Amino acid sequence: MMISRNILLWASKNEWMTGHIPNYNFVQTAVKRFMPGETPSDAIDATSELLKFNIPTTLTHLGENINNLAEAEKAAEHYYNLLERIYQEKIDIEISLKLTQIGFDLSLDKTFDLFKQILQKAKECDNNVFIDIEDNSYVDNTIMFYKKMKLNFDNVGLCLQAYLYRTKDDIMEMMDIDPCIRLVKGAYNEPDTVAFKYKAEVDDNFFKLSKYFLEQIEKRRIRVAFATHDIELQQKIKVAAQKMEIPNEKVEFQMLYGIKNREQIRLAKEGYNIRTLISYGKAWYPWYMRRLAERPANVVFVLKNVFSK
Ligand SMILES: Cc1cc2nc3c(=O)[nH]c(=O)nc-3n(C[C@H](O)[C@H](O)[C@H](O)COP(=O)(O)OP(=O)(O)OC[C@H]3O[C@@H](n4cnc5c(N)ncnc54)[C@H](O)[C@@H]3O)c2cc1C
Repeated sequence: MMISRNILLWASKNEWMTGHIPNYNFVQTAVKRFMPGETPSDAIDATSELLKFNIPTTLTHLGENINNLAEAEKAAEHYYNLLERIYQEKIDIEISLKLTQIGFDLSLDKTFDLFKQILQKAKECDNNVFIDIEDNSYVDNTIMFYKKMKLNFDNVGLCLQAYLYRTKDDIMEMMDIDPCIRLVKGAYNEPDTVAFKYKAEVDDNFFKLSKYFLEQIEKRRIRVAFATHDIELQQKIKVAAQKMEIPNEKVEFQMLYGIKNREQIRLAKEGYNIRTLISYGKAWYPWYMRRLAERPANVVFVLKNVFSK
């Protein structure tokens, strides 16, 4: 299982595969399970369906590691327009983006400028923006970036990964700025010098960090979203919250579009905050490979599409 996960994560970065695999029809068909379509309208339509179950969404326009600043500006403009559209349509959708999509590898100053414009627009539209977290080489700068943004904006959130040893310290260090955190296990292939190697260790750390956040929820103006499809872990978080007498509506879970839909609806029915992250766009290949790596059994699903043709 470990080997296939590594192969899929390697494939997510392979240039030849990035250029060729998305062209196959059977891959395009399989990706629809995790992505309602390539346009903002597809993602907004999918949101309208989810809202029937009281499930709002977060939208991410797929694309990472762009090659020049003109592409960064284009990506930022996309989000700017999206925020305006969400505002006009009065629909509960937040946005989340990767800093590499708006120039993080090319110019820190430009990325600050573009992100600030997006945040300012979001503020005017009464909306929130989350920063995705990428592989560990970006974590220092992403946290520095987040803290700087948080000085002037309260509508910004950050994703942190429970598989990293450092995350506990990062959280402690951030508590005095009342952070808004989306906690995930982590999707990249990290060495054991920086990340827990075994699932049980990652799960254990996720739960410890979640318990810490729950203890802080009533004391501070923080927002925390437990972003996992791990039902056992969700259950432990629910029980811990009940023991602390935290009402369900103050506990937020987030999950990805197309994964464990029934459980997402159940969480909403139980009165928890549940928000679904929907990714859309043409640049879905590396993102899709990471989704397959999270559950290599999904590859069987892809192959079924080959033979059903
Ligand atoms: C809202 C949200 C935002 C995220 N943002 C980031 C981010 O910014 N940076 C980052 O590194 N990671 C991000 N992730 C991904 C995250 O790090 C994990 O890789 C992913 O959520 C899988 O871990 P899990 O917590 O679901 O637990 P796992 O233990 O991996 O999975 C639990 C169970 O869920 C099911 N499952 C999990 N993934 C899949 C899948 N792809 N297909 C089908 N079934 C699946 C399986 O049945 C599995 O047994 C995000 C995840 C979510 C939900």
